[in-house]
Amino acid sequence: MNHTNTDEGMHYEGMCIRPPSEAYSILLQASVGCSHNKCTFCGTYKDKRFRIKDDDTILSDILYASRHMRNQDRLFIMDGDALIIPYRRLVWILERIREHLPWVKRVGAYANTKGIKMKSEEELLRLKELGLGILYMGIETGDDETLKAVRKGADSQRMLAMGKKVMAAGIKLSVTVLLGIAGKERSLIHARATGELLTLLDPDYVGALTVMVIRGTPLADEMLAGRFELPDNYGLLAELREMIASTDLTKGLFFSNHASNYLPIKVRYPRGKQQALDVIDLALQGRVDLRPEWMRAL
Ligand code: SF4
Repeated sequence: MNHTNTDEGMHYEGMCIRPPSEAYSILLQASVGCSHNKCTFCGTYKDKRFRIKDDDTILSDILYASRHMRNQDRLFIMDGDALIIPYRRLVWILERIREHLPWVKRVGAYANTKGIKMKSEEELLRLKELGLGILYMGIETGDDETLKAVRKGADSQRMLAMGKKVMAAGIKLSVTVLLGIAGKERSLIHARATGELLTLLDPDYVGALTVMVIRGTPLADEMLAGRFELPDNYGLLAELREMIASTDLTKGLFFSNHASNYLPIKVRYPRGKQQALDVIDLALQGRVDLRPEWMRAL
């Protein structure tokens, strides 16, 4: 079906998610699902078979946005790992955005290491020139044993190399790490290894989310079988403390203000580090309220 030049709205399929910082962006769903779709903790795209949408549908959405979204100057390309879209298609999409949405100042997308690896350095540079300003990569942990256990599809070395490749092209890098993902026993090992990876990577933004065990995922099965145990509130906080203490960024922003976290924290490195550690220490001593359970949400 030819969707071009219709006014029927944006074509969204299934549950669509975007990073908190893209809350006011135009959301363009150019691909559906996640090409990897194997991480044991992730239930987001389990009901979606990965595919890239056809040009007519994508163009129709860009044209719709050109008529109805003139006040939004950022655009986020969905779904789960939109950078997996082959280079030529991405160039075409970015060119159409430039042509029809000239007021858009920054385009962002989720990326996994495979999508980055498939692009040469020159191609990433060209994508940056065409408006791709930020990529969001889930590294989850720097602990290789945990990365393997959660079937992330990449080890810490690969995360490091691919993250560096993004930044070398002048594209901002925002990474997410997952508190609790290594379970109770490896909690502090995960925290330290993640801090070490973040220090080497030195990204622009780090978002620390707390893992939510979602029914139907392999991680939930592990938990039911008694093979995975989440640290409690204070364990998660101690993990966050260890992670921040092990992380040194030259200028990056580390935040854990996602709704799933117990204590919202924003650290502008390097000067904010000690203050954040002090607040967490107060919370660990029970002198700062943690968010009650009912306030947590996905
Ligand atoms: S790569 Fe991201 S979106 Fe895909 S399964 Fe893993 S966590 Fe989910």
